[in-house]
Amino acid sequence: MRCPFCGTENAKVIDSRDAADGYQIRRRRECLNCKERFTTFESAELLIPYIVKNNGAREPFNPAKLRTSLQKALEKRPVNAEDLERAITRITLNLQATGEREVPSKLVGELAMEALKSLDKVAYIRFASVYLSFDDVKEFSDEIAKLSEK
Ligand SMILES: [Zn+2]
Repeated sequence: MRCPFCGTENAKVIDSRDAADGYQIRRRRECLNCKERFTTFESAELLIPYIVKNNGAREPFNPAKLRTSLQKALEKRPVNAEDLERAITRITLNLQATGEREVPSKLVGELAMEALKSLDKVAYIRFASVYLSFDDVKEFSDEIAKLSEK
């Protein structure tokens, strides 16, 4: 880490402790060049990122919208509401944990596909056939072939 006093990239950690009830780590550092001391805080970056669509439009991630498309894929399938909610929470956390302020909508689609794959194979195929572009279809049919082998 670069020293804020002299700009040298030579600061070592001299003390490290929990802060904010364990949600942060406070580090005391000392610059080996100028001997100045400073403190840094580290915490998980959990922002709800903006979703960048294929046409470049941006909108805040909307779990309700994700729920609607998952429900559509899961229509009349034996998956309970609780498992669906758990999947939505997991996808939301995965998006937050990227630490990015913007993520491509493709990532949301991939996370949703991954979630459906373990929830219900039929719903997975339904979702993928709507979501995937023509270029991905070959890859997807290989994927289906793999599923039916199991
Ligand atoms: Zn320094």
